[in-house]
Amino acid sequence: MSKLAILGGEKAIKNDYTECFKWPIITKEMEEKVLEVLRKGAMSGTDLTEEFEKEYATLYGMKYALCHNNGTSAIHSALFGLKIGKGDEVICPSMTYWASCLPVLSLGGTVVFADIDEESLCIDPNDIERHITEKTKCIIVVHYAGYPADMDRIIPIARKYNLKILEDCSHSHWCFYKGKLTGTFGDVSAFSLMSGKSFPIGEGGIMLTNDLEIYERAIIFGHYERHSNITIDYLKNGIGVPWGGYKYRMHQLSSAVGIVFIKIFKEIFEEIDRAMNYFCDLLDTLPGIKTHRPPKNSGLTKGGWYAPFAHYKKEQLNGLSITRFCEALRAEGVYTHPGCNKPLHLHPVFHNIDIYNDGKPTVIRNSERDIRTKIGSLPISENIGKRVFSIPRFVKFDKNVIEEYFSAFEKVVKNHKELLKDDPGDPPTIGNWGLTFRI
Ligand SMILES: *Cc1c(COP(=O)(O)O)cnc(C)c1O
Repeated sequence: MSKLAILGGEKAIKNDYTECFKWPIITKEMEEKVLEVLRKGAMSGTDLTEEFEKEYATLYGMKYALCHNNGTSAIHSALFGLKIGKGDEVICPSMTYWASCLPVLSLGGTVVFADIDEESLCIDPNDIERHITEKTKCIIVVHYAGYPADMDRIIPIARKYNLKILEDCSHSHWCFYKGKLTGTFGDVSAFSLMSGKSFPIGEGGIMLTNDLEIYERAIIFGHYERHSNITIDYLKNGIGVPWGGYKYRMHQLSSAVGIVFIKIFKEIFEEIDRAMNYFCDLLDTLPGIKTHRPPKNSGLTKGGWYAPFAHYKKEQLNGLSITRFCEALRAEGVYTHPGCNKPLHLHPVFHNIDIYNDGKPTVIRNSERDIRTKIGSLPISENIGKRVFSIPRFVKFDKNVIEEYFSAFEKVVKNHKELLKDDPGDPPTIGNWGLTFRI
């Protein structure tokens, strides 16, 4: 077995395979459609956006779709749609991107964090009920890195306590949970459509619901240009200016890309799925690695495989730190890093920061009790950074390239003992507040 690149040997990855990872995929037709919008000067219109919304709603079998300028604003509108307001508590998994729940604070509500399930990296259904109080109104579900959350167990809890469900589908475009699409389970769902996500149309986001009131509340909140569509009386009384004081219209360069991508994405996702399953099947033969994907024949699928990860089993590799393991892989030419999103309950904004100058931390500004999530209380979220690492996301199925990448992993695993002597160990926390998708 050849010498590890980190110790001066040759790299396992011999060539530049940028084409196998290049994302987003931009076609000629997209370019032309975008140029058409530019030439017409129709960037701020809504005709193409409405066309895209209709197609997206049809694709999901949902009644209403509303585009936004990004996924964060789609979540903000969805929360307003659900009437989250002063003193309300919202339960959210701690290990996610901040936009899943941070907009709750601006509405006067509080976020209470639940732990995640170690395998799926999604909210742990066993850790929801202990956080429910009289004030709880909603559970936010994130299908993390395209792994559908355990809806069969989450929905009965929501029903039992009369809670709403908001699905954050920013990682889970076209992911199925037992034959049903993620984004069709909750009262409302929101998707980021920014350029790094699986359904990349530029900056953009979309909200889906079957509930007319949620839909119209989202319109009144940040889409003044569509107020004439509002039918519900108490909303109609206030049309003309957006109640939130926000302007969340998506520009039509994004809609143009979306209208083309929606026609071709299934084929692209199929190729990604084939490539990633082939790669993961190989990786799963190695000690120390277990890829983050639902079991075969579970009826759960990963759609466009946004931000793929693998679990790292240090104990199977003589305790080699994940930091050193990933360094060795990077030296071989594999882009990888340890950790995922940092747990949000550790961030000062969810502890002591007084964002709005209320004289008390914003996270509890409207609550009667201090229900902040204590540091140390969500052990899986707090330690997950040392147990997962990112793996390359192949968007093209090229057997030889995939096998070459696998050979880099195999080389590091087989020679891992050579890495033990200079192993500096792991820093106390690993991960990022945002996931940056790079090749
Ligand atoms: C990307 C992302 C968002 C926010 O979407 P933007 O389009 O970047 O505003 C929300 N939630 C999760 C889980 C995300 O990954």
